[in-house]
Amino acid sequence: MNGDKIIEAKNVSKWYGTFQVLKDINLTVSKGERIVVCGPSGSGKSTLIRCFNRLEAHQEGEISVNGITLHNKMRNVGGVRKNVGMVFQHFNLFPHMTVLMNCMVGPMWIKGVPAAEAKKTALKFLERVRIPEQANKYPIQLSGGQQQRVAIARSLCMEPAVMLFDEPTSALDPEMVSEVLETMTGLAKDGMTMVCVTHEMGFARAVADRVIFMNSGQIVEEGKPKDFFTNPQHERTKLFLSQIL
Ligand code: ADP
Ligand code: MG
Repeated sequence: MNGDKIIEAKNVSKWYGTFQVLKDINLTVSKGERIVVCGPSGSGKSTLIRCFNRLEAHQEGEISVNGITLHNKMRNVGGVRKNVGMVFQHFNLFPHMTVLMNCMVGPMWIKGVPAAEAKKTALKFLERVRIPEQANKYPIQLSGGQQQRVAIARSLCMEPAVMLFDEPTSALDPEMVSEVLETMTGLAKDGMTMVCVTHEMGFARAVADRVIFMNSGQIVEEGKPKDFFTNPQHERTKLFLSQIL
């Protein structure tokens, strides 16, 4: 890991109307770092990572991603998004496109990559998530685990500087969770910078450089997995861990 900062959030606050969803968040993610974000439902985890690719706007503080400062007057949101891959709980594949096309359209439409090259890249990453044989199927013909792996491949085709995962295994049948976690573990081993909202604590222990615990819009505690799991400092963290482990 080197010192390059991929994401830097300084004193970030955000409100939905009068409800403050993020409270003075400070978080730096360096190149090659693997961060796991956990915390109770409603604590602001999704909102935080959605701010990192400008799916949500923050109101106070500063966020920069891959050297680009995110602010209200920015015209080039696409310039940020093409650096930031995002994988959602519900896959969000384009239903009317084949698996292959799902992986090709981002590079073609957003980056202007020629179709032949986009196809080559798509096949490379479908192989990487170990489903090249599904390339000509439609999302609905795939299992949930396969669809999520396509969603990961689709993001990788944009060659992002960082990948954000928002509970990527929460909507899956239990037997499909491990294939997605294995794919994510493979990415981590290859050095991908990752911010993963997940309650898969086995994954966090094995892969995370740091675990961040959020509660009521704040980062309450963070630490290396070993310390976080064996010696949590705050009562709220202890309670959370006792409920999920
Ligand atoms: P988490 O991902 O940790 O479950 P979220 O970031 O989804 O939490 O939500 C944090 C809080 O913000 C919740 O109380 C939720 O109801 C609220 N919230 C989320 N999105 C919106 C929205 N678009 N408008 C108003 N409130 C929202
Ligand atoms: Mg969420």
